Amino acid sequence: MSDTNADIKYSLIIPIYNEEEIILEMYRRVSAIMAQLDESVELILINDGSRDNSLNLIRDLHTRDPRVCYLSFARNFGHQIAVTAGLNFARGQAIIILDADLQDPPELIPTLIQKWQQGYEVVYAQRLKRKNEGWFKRLTAYVFYRILRRLADVDIPSDTGDFCLMDRKVVDLLNAMPEQNRYIRGLRAWVGFRQTAVEFEREPRFAGEVKYTFSKSFSLALNSLISFSKVPLRLSSYLGLLSAGVALLMAILVLYWRLYQPNSPVTGLATIMIAIFFLGSVQLICLGILGEYIGRIYEEIKGRPLYTLAEVAGFTHFESNSVV
Ligand code: UDP
Ligand code: MG
Repeated sequence: MSDTNADIKYSLIIPIYNEEEIILEMYRRVSAIMAQLDESVELILINDGSRDNSLNLIRDLHTRDPRVCYLSFARNFGHQIAVTAGLNFARGQAIIILDADLQDPPELIPTLIQKWQQGYEVVYAQRLKRKNEGWFKRLTAYVFYRILRRLADVDIPSDTGDFCLMDRKVVDLLNAMPEQNRYIRGLRAWVGFRQTAVEFEREPRFAGEVKYTFSKSFSLALNSLISFSKVPLRLSSYLGLLSAGVALLMAILVLYWRLYQPNSPVTGLATIMIAIFFLGSVQLICLGILGEYIGRIYEEIKGRPLYTLAEVAGFTHFESNSVV
């Protein structure tokens, strides 16, 4: 995909899900930055099955500005898949991913590019502060990133989102990965190369509701842990060991009471109930952990396409209404 369009220098990728209140302001701020870059830029908007007027707004932008290309999914596939589709279609030498809601300030793009020109293949933006996000989101994000760092096989930097710049080389590698379960931050760290951070303060959302519901964030967190760590599987062995230890201890205690304290007040029923519940829950937890991994193996093995496209425009080489 890259070699046919070697003249495009920068690709900006923006996933969009029900962002009608934001799109025009986003375009205003992003195009101001595009004007500052003196090389050719394409702006790739991915409509992730929005149910509001987003797609029409995107179509308008495309007719007004030929640098705007877009993909429209046949349904909502989620943020990570939307970004993945953008990466598949991007033609630039440096590819920049940002959110539509202006929480990732487009004004940081020239700084990202500067770092790229210094030779870094991955420049990710790291949030110093989160303004106006609720304490619950901040706390869960803080705890999650720390757990992920401890457990993951690769070093995934804390407090980074998908806002980043990646070199063509890195994007080609990401595109070649067969994974269905795509946690871009993790995959980006996994590829290696020279990576660096640029710090910024995360602004509040420009308008509209957060599109990442708690359950979407939770499943992203779970996905990232399971895709990048086998520690939870090991945890089930540890739990098994622990319960075996407790059982042994109890056996010794019961024996001791039988032999030396025939009048001990401990009755059998309570002990048995506790033991049954304890073992039962340990087994269920372990089954659940196994299930999480097996479910993902099942997803991978089916090998379905990552997304279905209802509309593609602006990429002369891919223009079609067909399903990819
Ligand atoms: N988004 C998407 N598909 C979804 C959910 C979100 O493409 O199913 C987009 C959304 O339009 C926005 C970005 O992903 O551009 C980040 O979403 P949001 O701001 O709601 O989440 P945050 O990262 O701020 O928690
Ligand atoms: Mg946001």
